[in-house]
Amino acid sequence: MAQSWINGTGRRIWSTARFFCRMVTDFVYPPLCLLCDRYLQANETLIHEKCLAGLALLDEEDLSGQDLQDALRFAPSFERSLALYPYTDDLQKLIHFFKYSGFWSLAEPLGQNLGQLMMDLGYTREIDALIPVPLHKVRQRQRGYNQAEKLARSIGRTCGVPLWTDVLLRRRPTPSQARMNRSDRMRNLLGAFAVVKPDRVAQKKLALVDDVLTTGSTLEECSRTLIDAGAARVIVISLVRVV
Ligand SMILES: [Zn+2]
Repeated sequence: MAQSWINGTGRRIWSTARFFCRMVTDFVYPPLCLLCDRYLQANETLIHEKCLAGLALLDEEDLSGQDLQDALRFAPSFERSLALYPYTDDLQKLIHFFKYSGFWSLAEPLGQNLGQLMMDLGYTREIDALIPVPLHKVRQRQRGYNQAEKLARSIGRTCGVPLWTDVLLRRRPTPSQARMNRSDRMRNLLGAFAVVKPDRVAQKKLALVDDVLTTGSTLEECSRTLIDAGAARVIVISLVRVV
């Protein structure tokens, strides 16, 4: 009798606690799709599966050689750029939620799609590790997370490539590059990154991960830093390619 009363009370306390947790979660993550503002299904988080599947895709997901040089307007030290989406209004909205509004769990579905792309294109066997573009520790403390690392973690979980977060470091914070031209960006980034463990990257084939490839300046500086430290090859993976 006493046992069943305890069990019954325990269940009620548990269910009340769950109800309040759900209320808090729904407050922090309102159960409306970030793209269409309609209610989500219970198995969906932040974005409808059909809204995610309906996002416009790039014509060329895998860019290399002369095509990559033409797009970037310089010859990069990385071999190819893998990306899924062009910079549409929907992507601009999602990236803003992902980066600045704390909706880091968007990394899960978006990273899964990138991980799937890596598998479809057969790169999982060619790459030794994923390396997210690091944030400076002050910026990371302000934001609470590194969006590139969240994305890389989800890609790694999907396609099974290891994630290395402790080999590439941002040595100093760099001012916003939004209004800079390419040569100013390169100057701004010079020496901004360092390889902490050169023996780890020596002769390795690495994939740098970032949310957006815009001019390619940041990814180029990271790639060159890894290659100078002995990496054999670098490719770049991003959700969006603007160029
Ligand atoms: Zn939707």
